[in-house]
Amino acid sequence: MVTPNPDFYNEIAANGGADVKMCFQCGTCTAGCPSGKETAYRTRKVMRMAQLGLKDELLNTDDIWQCTTCYTCEERCPRGVPIVDTILAIRNIAIQQGKMYDAHKKTANNLVKYGHTVDLNDKVKAMRASLGLPEVPPTVLANEKASADFAKILAKTGFDKLVE
Ligand code: SF4
Ligand code: SF4
Repeated sequence: MVTPNPDFYNEIAANGGADVKMCFQCGTCTAGCPSGKETAYRTRKVMRMAQLGLKDELLNTDDIWQCTTCYTCEERCPRGVPIVDTILAIRNIAIQQGKMYDAHKKTANNLVKYGHTVDLNDKVKAMRASLGLPEVPPTVLANEKASADFAKILAKTGFDKLVE
């Protein structure tokens, strides 16, 4: 039994997806979505579910994590719907409820661990060395103060706890 949540639209709006009501379901977004070509993900369907307030169904589907944020859909949408912002808003709501796709959690944890989203393991270090690059890239990792400052920001915003 599907139970629409009339407050969900406002929740999405509060997280940046305010214009999702502008969608008139033409399907242009789905037609050009590269993720949809590889998976069962359908952008138009997510927009419709958001309009209808199908919160539980959306938060518990893998669909909201399939978007790569390439913005092809937004470039083509005839109604100017902020599709990516809407998907990100729904993801934010999901994360606040402790729901996060494993791959995204792993990437987020890299940010906590390394200061950026790319893993820096021994294999990557060896690959960098074989290319004549320093094993540690010149990011926050190579700067103790920047690394400490970044860790403080993650702790202050609660990001580290959120993705634990
Ligand atoms: S392209 Fe825009 S108007 Fe058309 S279905 Fe997608 S979001 Fe809705
Ligand atoms: S931004 Fe996301 S939903 Fe839009 S086309 Fe790219 S992968 Fe598909």
